[in-house]
Amino acid sequence: MPLESLALSRGTVDRLTDKRTDPAWLDAAWADPDTRVLVVSYGRAVVRLGEDEAALVFVPPAGAPAGTRFLLGQDADGVVYFGVSAALPDPLPPGARVLSLREVGTLLSDRDAGLLTHAVALANWHDTHTHCPVDGTATVVDPGGHSTRCPADGTEHFPRTDPAVIMLVTDPDDRCLLARNAAWPGRRVSILAGFVDPGESAEQAVIREVAEETQIKVTNVRYVGSQPWPLPRSLMLGFRADAPAGQAIVVDAEEIAEAYWFSRDELLAAIEARHIALPPPVSIARHIIEQWYGGPLPDPQ
Ligand SMILES: [Zn+2]
Repeated sequence: MPLESLALSRGTVDRLTDKRTDPAWLDAAWADPDTRVLVVSYGRAVVRLGEDEAALVFVPPAGAPAGTRFLLGQDADGVVYFGVSAALPDPLPPGARVLSLREVGTLLSDRDAGLLTHAVALANWHDTHTHCPVDGTATVVDPGGHSTRCPADGTEHFPRTDPAVIMLVTDPDDRCLLARNAAWPGRRVSILAGFVDPGESAEQAVIREVAEETQIKVTNVRYVGSQPWPLPRSLMLGFRADAPAGQAIVVDAEEIAEAYWFSRDELLAAIEARHIALPPPVSIARHIIEQWYGGPLPDPQ
């Protein structure tokens, strides 16, 4: 069963990739007062927060601050969206707040979740890739905002996404392996994760990372779904894997403080006793754990 309803994988806007290289179309779209601009700054945007939902606050092009501009796409009603990486308005519009993608990702509509995820990913890239990696010359952003060019050597540069694997490992009793990262606060535990190494497949990364972190050897690696995680530039590739019987957990103490097998009953009891806390619903980890568990798990305060 594939994962569904991943908070940051819900975008509905047509990205219009062919328009990114069409300056006349881009100029006309920017001149249209119905066009909407999402201003993002260091992963955050202006939102209106309701009881159980939130909506992005857009500005018309004429009201957008100067900054790095990029095309986000067009919705089913024909409205075109741009992002601008720039300082957020100060003061804020009445009733509005500034929140991060991590904070607001699950509360936004499908359209807005996709727009903010896209905008944060591109803004993070622009903020950290301002010069040519070949000769160090300051690059020029292309009209659509999805690539840059070096004026000295003509090389073209594209946004970076770093693939990472995240995997739920089960033993022959269908218990799941949860670990506490040494860098995490308090009671937080999660499934194992790590970056894909250069020249490595995602499946190889799953096997290597589980072995490095716990010395457990896994088999039957299978893909379950993915979620962009532009914090700052990852794509999380979700997997399940099996741990054959007779293996002892030996944690890599540098990265993992502790790791244990949990049956479904043990997991629920540990959460309710506040011995452990799961990752938040915005994460793919939470969805993979709940898919194994067979339903939602509580977050007792
Ligand atoms: Zn260059």
